[in-house]
Amino acid sequence: MATNRTFTMLKPDAVEKGHIGAILEKIIASGFKIVAMKLTQMSKADAQTFYAIHNERPFFGELVAYMTRGPIVAAVLEKDNAVEDFRTLIGSTNPADAAEGTIRKLFAASMGENAVHGSDSDENAAIESAFHFSGREMF
Ligand code: UDP
Ligand code: MG
Repeated sequence: MATNRTFTMLKPDAVEKGHIGAILEKIIASGFKIVAMKLTQMSKADAQTFYAIHNERPFFGELVAYMTRGPIVAAVLEKDNAVEDFRTLIGSTNPADAAEGTIRKLFAASMGENAVHGSDSDENAAIESAFHFSGREMF
């Protein structure tokens, strides 16, 4: 995958609250092009695999329960410097620390339920995109 791509999920809290449209509008207005997208729901095994890097952390069980409790929107986004620029757009993991105007500042309730995922490296963007999408689903 080209390094100008990143992977995102609009997490179950954002979908439950009806924020899909507002968040996508902000992503598109910030210059990202959607090259793959779907509404889907992760199984427990999916979430345990997706977040395997955190499996020793105390919040792992809660994270898996949260991420599997309802549908998510998974998407692959394209833009120059996509990974870093998208992390800037979403803001800090804890919305209390997130900058004004960021997606987490606007839409996240707490550190656990923080509305949106963004890949942290080009390598993980490719792994996470391939976890959710086949080559035929990425444009
Ligand atoms: N998380 C949590 N408690 C913490 C840290 C993280 O519940 O103390 C959750 C939160 O949903 C976060 C996800 O685990 O988005 C992954 O954590 P990471 O440190 O990778 O944060 P991110 O990359 O999403 O900002
Ligand atoms: Mg992370």
